[in-house]
Amino acid sequence: MDSKPDTFYAATAAPRAARPRLTLDVDTGVCVVGGGLAGLWIARALVKRGQDVVVLEAGRIGGGASGRSGGFCSAGFAQELGAIVARVGYHHARALYQLSREGVDHVRALIAEGSPGLDPVAGRLSVLRRDDESGIKRAADDLAEYFDHVMVVWPTERVRATLKTERYYQALHDADALSVNPLNLALALAAEVESGGGRIYEESAAIAADLDGVRKWVATGGARVRAHQIVFCGNAAIGPAFPELARCILPVATHIGVTAPLGDKLKEAIGYSGGISDTRRAFDYYRIVGDRLLWGGSMTTRLQRPRRLERSFAREILRIYPQLEGVSVEYAWTGVMGYAVHRMPQIGMLRPGVWIASAFGGQGINTTAMAGDLISSAIAENDDRWRLFIPFGLVWAGGALGRAAARVIYWSAAVRDWIDEKRAKRNERRRKEAADRAAEQARIERLSPAKSVETGAAAAEARKE
Ligand SMILES: Cc1cc2nc3c(=O)[nH]c(=O)nc-3n(C[C@H](O)[C@H](O)[C@H](O)COP(=O)(O)OP(=O)(O)OC[C@H]3O[C@@H](n4cnc5c(N)ncnc54)[C@H](O)[C@@H]3O)c2cc1C
Repeated sequence: MDSKPDTFYAATAAPRAARPRLTLDVDTGVCVVGGGLAGLWIARALVKRGQDVVVLEAGRIGGGASGRSGGFCSAGFAQELGAIVARVGYHHARALYQLSREGVDHVRALIAEGSPGLDPVAGRLSVLRRDDESGIKRAADDLAEYFDHVMVVWPTERVRATLKTERYYQALHDADALSVNPLNLALALAAEVESGGGRIYEESAAIAADLDGVRKWVATGGARVRAHQIVFCGNAAIGPAFPELARCILPVATHIGVTAPLGDKLKEAIGYSGGISDTRRAFDYYRIVGDRLLWGGSMTTRLQRPRRLERSFAREILRIYPQLEGVSVEYAWTGVMGYAVHRMPQIGMLRPGVWIASAFGGQGINTTAMAGDLISSAIAENDDRWRLFIPFGLVWAGGALGRAAARVIYWSAAVRDWIDEKRAKRNERRRKEAADRAAEQARIERLSPAKSVETGAAAAEARKE
């Protein structure tokens, strides 16, 4: 008997083709290693540009981070915009940001083709868990002025009227963003690769490669693919096929839970159908899927699935929405993201005929689509826009020490979030107490005219004296 799929997406996936293992040597123009969103966007864009493509996938299509993600698709990168500007300057950062927006457009265009099960929903709300009206307005103004991206600030009252929780203050609404079923997105891309003449082999892990000759090869346990160009898109699992790349990726685990159906009380609590996330360093992100709630959060360099993940998600949901009392989490899973030290994707040519597209971190839906366009147009048309990513090259991720450092950074971020939130709640309580005191004083004065007259008379007497 089949066991229950570990992700909600796998349990509800669109029909998928059976794909063979690689058992015989094949020749091709481009071999793409990795059948996640990065590899598939690249392969699809290459076949559309008339290239002969073979994709090797170690497991099943979308079985890595891509088919396990939150499905939020919005502009930007895993690295903050301010840090990108600090590293490469404003004009360069602006060009990168525009490319990341084009990534969102590629996803939207694919959705418009009508593949099954993509379930797109427009919009994203980034909510503050501390009161900072001027800060959020400044952020919106800067985005509009310097990056031409208009987002709308929602005041606290509107946020709380929409999301019925006292935890949130103001929010930034991004109407350009969307969310999508990420596994079905990967399956739709794979179907297009094949209908365009590309070949995909599943359960065919690349375990070795010779990248020196004009004609290169990649070997699986069973056979070899010989190709002029090889694109490595294996994310954090790339391993011995390309150790040079594996050393530069820090694997970071994150988790998602999907509740059992919640009925009407879900939409009473959450009156917004797009993606919602908070802006803490260690943030929660969630969205409604049907009548269930999909909830993601927490990052760690410990890659195993935590025990009692379902229960910890239920607790976290109730911390924000206590009215969902009785919520149970039916699916909970862990996925591994790949991060570079600079938190930007590694995209481009390492040496003639050897390409990489990896380290998309927690912002892979738009950026993998963008990488598909950049790498395929570079291979097929000598487009050199990928060079914008040269400042974000391969940097050693620090091995075990790097993983320990990342853990410490995440913990201290979570502690700073906690302090900020406590401070915001204390300030809100003090403001409310002051307002209550002022209202009480006004009430006393209204209800005690005699006392006011007396006080007035006494003051007049005092003035005479
Ligand atoms: C829980 C979770 C939530 C996320 N939420 C979001 C979100 O809401 N929005 C967003 O934008 N991003 C999100 N992300 C990040 C996003 O999913 C990733 O950045 C993106 O999917 C990376 O795509 P990829 O193709 O590089 O990697 P993967 O999807 O991991 O694909 C790599 C593939 O390569 C294969 N492979 C590896 N080595 C080999 C080899 N040697 N030979 C053959 N095949 C190999 C793997 O089996 C795998 O299928 C999330 C990630 C996780 C884990």
